[in-house]
Parts: sequence; structure tokens; C-alpha cells
Amino acid sequence: MTTPSAAVAAPAPVWRDVVGQAAAIAVLERAVAAARAAADAAEDVVPGAGMTHAWLLTGPPGSGRSTAARAFAAALQCPDGGCGQCHECRTALQGSHADVALIATEHVQLRVDDVRPLVALAQRRPSGGRWRVIVVEDADRLNDNSGNVLLKALEEPPPRTVWVLCAPSADDVLVTVRSRCRRVGLRIPPVADVADLLVRRDGADPAIAAFAARAAQSHIGLARRLALDEGARIRRREVLTLPSKIRSVGAAVIAAGQLVEVAAEESKAATGERDAAERAALLHSLGAEGATTLPPAVRAQVRQLEENQRRRATRAQRDVLDRALVDLLSLYRDVLVLQLGAGGDVDLGVELVNVELEQQVRALAAGSTAEATLRRMDAIGEARERIEANVAPLLAVEALMVALGRVP
Ligand SMILES: [Zn+2]
Repeated sequence: MTTPSAAVAAPAPVWRDVVGQAAAIAVLERAVAAARAAADAAEDVVPGAGMTHAWLLTGPPGSGRSTAARAFAAALQCPDGGCGQCHECRTALQGSHADVALIATEHVQLRVDDVRPLVALAQRRPSGGRWRVIVVEDADRLNDNSGNVLLKALEEPPPRTVWVLCAPSADDVLVTVRSRCRRVGLRIPPVADVADLLVRRDGADPAIAAFAARAAQSHIGLARRLALDEGARIRRREVLTLPSKIRSVGAAVIAAGQLVEVAAEESKAATGERDAAERAALLHSLGAEGATTLPPAVRAQVRQLEENQRRRATRAQRDVLDRALVDLLSLYRDVLVLQLGAGGDVDLGVELVNVELEQQVRALAAGSTAEATLRRMDAIGEARERIEANVAPLLAVEALMVALGRVP
């Protein structure tokens, strides 16, 4: 197979699920081409000449960082630079390639103990592939200590090792770490591209995909969930109808309870399936499948798993709650758009995020002022910060609902 000239060619097939990121893909494809040229000439890669050993992939949540990192890994391993079909491509994309390590953490921080094995791994030559690729999905969670451990590895990379660190933004990563990486930024993908992806990759209905991409404001993971899970769509709608119901403090407190409950349900739906699968896999590996009572030796391990799952569920619930607040924010953003557009009779050319709730948005816009809407958006921001800072969710949401219900 011949490689078409890089300047005009469409991206290699391996990039097909990395949507709306032409500029970033171009940079990474140039790196793949340079890496192949060096390999063909049996030379070590010279950092700076297209390819380098340490990358920092930044982009807002849901923009497709980890998909892009996997595609890059696949393109590096593929004999054709990313055909998307061969064994190397397929296993790298699926996350099962022996020389591609994907590191994600459930913890708040990446600790020294998490990073040390990676540093050791980085020293090893690839077992069969062309490169040893180590993808760290949450590089923003490195702390001073684990960052220092990683630093050593970044400074003296073996010739066949490539680090791909991912983070929301460069500012989220330790200065010492990010200064040793070449940065590639992803943008928020266009709504239409996300909708396309949901139809093409996930088989979503086109109309639902368009709604989901818009409602999720191009967050690919959220959009996928909204497109494929009717329950998620119903829960989102419930959240967005809350502001119309809070006409008293009592109603606000009830609405708060409902919102926290919806978040709990949503996170349970998201994690429940995985929890059950993990438990089944653990019991299988311990040879205790189908046992009605667990042997004592097995019990401790199961308890440990349950403990981890509980911690993850707590975090998932906070994440889901945060997303619900972002949804609420999108509603008031729509309200503000109408209020600033002279009563909402003018076509502003700005599309509402929540087109399907236009009636409700108009009613809220007519019943308040832009100033009051801005105050409410501030209140949502404050609630998000408090939940992030570990305030009891119900408490933070109650204060928010009371603030939202206050007469303008
Ligand atoms: Zn391939």
C-alpha cells in the first residue's frame, strides 16, 4: 500500500471516530509519518522532527481525548500508518494491544505507586509492536510526588517509548511535566459532527442523535448516553422542568430532593452494569462462581471490591449531579439568549440548546429579567463549586433551588 502525500490526504481510517479535530489529527499524522520514516531508515527518532517521545493531549471533557490517544497509538503500531483494519489497529483501538498501556484512575490523584510501574514499563522494549505507547488518561491528577517520578522517565525516554498524557488543559498539569511534552489541543467538536458519529458508530436514530449532540453541548460521552438511553433522556427532562416548579421555599426543597435522587438513579444506571460484571469476573477468577454462600477466603476480596465500587458510586453521583447542573445552566443560558434578544420575538440566529423546551424557556424569560437570570447562573456555578468541594450534595442543591426560586 502506498501512503498518499500528507499535505492533501484525508486522515487515515484509524482517525474516523476522532470527530471535528482536523488540526490536531494533522499534527499527529505528521508525527506518525516522521516516526515511520525514522524506522525505515533504522534511525532513532530525533525529537523536534515531527515525532517526539512525550505528548500532552488537551481538550475539554467529552472532546474525545482518549479516543484520539488510542487512534494515535494505533497509527504508530500499524504497518500502514493507521489502516483501521489490521490486528495492530484493532487491538490498539480496543485497548488490548500488548504494547499500548492505557492508564486511567478512579482515585482523585495519581499516586507514586500508580506511576512507578509505568516508569518501569517505559524502559522495556516493545514486545512485538513498533512502539511502546503509554497513555495516561488523567495527567491532571498527578501530584508533586508522582509527577516527579514520571519526570525522570520523560527526560530520558528509551528510543521506542512514547508517552501520551491527556488532560483538560495544559494549566491542569504540573509545569515540570508539561514543559517536557509537546502539546496538541483538541477543541469542542461541532454538534453536527458529534451527531454523525452517534449515527455511524453507535447506530443511533439520526433525529435523536441530533438532539443528543445539541443537548450534551457536544460532550461525546454524554451525547452517546442521551442518544442510546431513553431513561437518561427522561431524567434530563425532569431536571430541566424543575425551575418551573419552584414557587416557594417548600417547593424548592422538594425540587432539591428530586434532583439529588435523579442523580443517584442516573449514576446507578451508569455504574450498576459494570459493578455486576466486575463482581462476576472476580468470583470467576476465585473459582467461586455460582456459590450460594461465599467461602471465607473469598469474602475479604469481595468486600474490598464492594468498597471500591461504593467509592466510585459516590464519585459518579457527584459527577452526574454536576452534569445535571450544567444542564440547568444550559436552560438559563437559553433564557438569557431570549431576554437579551428584546423579548424573544427577534430571530437572533443563536440556536437554543434546549429547543424542545422552547415554551418553558420563553415563559421563564418573560417572567424575569436578564439580571435575575445572571444571578441564577451564578448560583448554579456556586453550587457546582460547593459540590466539588465535598459539601453534602443535598445541602448545596437545596441552597441552589431556594436561590433559583427567589422572585426576581
Ligand atoms: Zn492498521
